[in-house]
Amino acid sequence: MAPPPAAGCPVTERAAPDPDRPVVGLDMRLGDDLRTVTGTETVALTPDLPVDEMWFRLVPNAPQSAGHRLTVESVRGDLVTGGGYVDEGAAPGTPGGLYRVDLRETVPAGQTVSVELDFRLRLTAERTPAGFDRLGVDDGVTWWGSGFPLLTWEPGHGWAQDPMVEVSGETTAGPAADTRIRISVPDDLVVLMSGDQAEPRATADGRRVWESSDPVARDVLVAVGEFDTATVDAGGTRVTAGVLSGADSSAEELAETTAEAIEVLEGRFGPFPYPTLAVPLVGDGGGGEEYSSAFVLGDDDPGLVVHEAAHMWFYGMVGNSQFRDPWLDEAFATFAETVGDGHTDADDLDRRGAVGGSMASFDDQDEYEALVYGKGAAALAAAREAAGEQAFDEAVRCYVESQAWTIARPEDLARAPGGPGACTRRPGGGRRPGPTGRRGRRELSRPAPDAPEGGTRLGSRPPAVGPGQRPGGPLQGPAAGPVPRLRPRLGSRPELARGGEDGVLLRGVRRTGSLNGGGRGSFLSSSAGHRRAARRAGRG
Ligand SMILES: [Zn+2]
Repeated sequence: MAPPPAAGCPVTERAAPDPDRPVVGLDMRLGDDLRTVTGTETVALTPDLPVDEMWFRLVPNAPQSAGHRLTVESVRGDLVTGGGYVDEGAAPGTPGGLYRVDLRETVPAGQTVSVELDFRLRLTAERTPAGFDRLGVDDGVTWWGSGFPLLTWEPGHGWAQDPMVEVSGETTAGPAADTRIRISVPDDLVVLMSGDQAEPRATADGRRVWESSDPVARDVLVAVGEFDTATVDAGGTRVTAGVLSGADSSAEELAETTAEAIEVLEGRFGPFPYPTLAVPLVGDGGGGEEYSSAFVLGDDDPGLVVHEAAHMWFYGMVGNSQFRDPWLDEAFATFAETVGDGHTDADDLDRRGAVGGSMASFDDQDEYEALVYGKGAAALAAAREAAGEQAFDEAVRCYVESQAWTIARPEDLARAPGGPGACTRRPGGGRRPGPTGRRGRRELSRPAPDAPEGGTRLGSRPPAVGPGQRPGGPLQGPAAGPVPRLRPRLGSRPELARGGEDGVLLRGVRRTGSLNGGGRGSFLSSSAGHRRAARRAGRG
């Protein structure tokens, strides 16, 4: 247990990961067809609540990735009696969105249970509904993020059994796990993946095996291709970028762009969370997807790089339930895009609807991205302006350092400085008191309860502004000061509420140079725009 913070945050010492966090091993093989991955996953879980089942999320079976398919071929373990799929909104034709492993007896808190799963991932080269997707096959490259059964344990809370949704976005809650990865690939291909990679070694069957370790991985990205790579040092972080032939950027340029992003983000949010970062560029005109110590890019736009790099703090280090509280990582990552030039546009605050809903609360992709990315980032920027830059930045830094390697909740953000007992580190690096690990699914899927009464502290709940409502406490900063009255001017610009196509969608965020002009892509002034347009256009 880390020492308690000194009175009067900000915490300057980063919380350590839970010493009893899960241990995960992934032993994978990419077939010669470059679209079949077979593997064995070992998981040792030491739960902080009693468990009599184990649950895994099969992300490739989500509707947004229809065409890909992840199956569990077998499951073993001393306590394992069997297992089975649960549909939970998975794409038709897939076996299900969740996989349950049944245990012979209840495992008490503090005891370790180990299981081993054989899995098979079948990737399609066809376009999926996501457009640019976390998994894919293209000329000279195969990549997969979340391409294995993902342990879905939330310490102090239990199993996250949230349904899959039609909206294209993450729905995962996963603990930081001590993770080792081994992957066998054809010998002419290069692997870029999560974790600190070792040099590859040749095997007798004419292939090469690549290994890495990430002691705090929530999820894993692997990209295998004819990459040209370059490595640069970014203030102690080893950044390795990889590009394919014909890419707009060289590997050196992409590595430098990433290093610059890290530098500017460290100035605001503290030291980069990982010793290494892998950045494979696998397409042209796509978006990006974040993983632990790695992100995959479908475009080399510098703003997109900043967004995905910011996710290493918000998602990677400070985890969240991406189903329950997607704004905790996406609003912050979008807000982070403004770090370089500091400009946002308060017009995004005019949008109808709440930022802080779960993934199940948004009607469609436009609404999700406009509210969670656009309005969420604008609200954070407004809070910074209201609180004062220094006070706000210190509060965020306190939140980041104190919640490192946990799955944070909005109320953790609310405990940033400004109130009694503010910003305290949770003992045990992610352990929090919770009544049971065996709640029913409906209960687990329920949106988080509202923040504590008062609502006068930073982030005490997300800025929920609906028709006829006046935003109140959520936008107040941690320091005393005037309450920003951000009265929605509803109806003044109806096109904004629908999500415009003319550059207004997220115009508050940083504009960058390499816009993909024309058609529906003409508003590409942000990474969110990139993701959105890419999905529509099916590029990447
Ligand atoms: Zn993002």
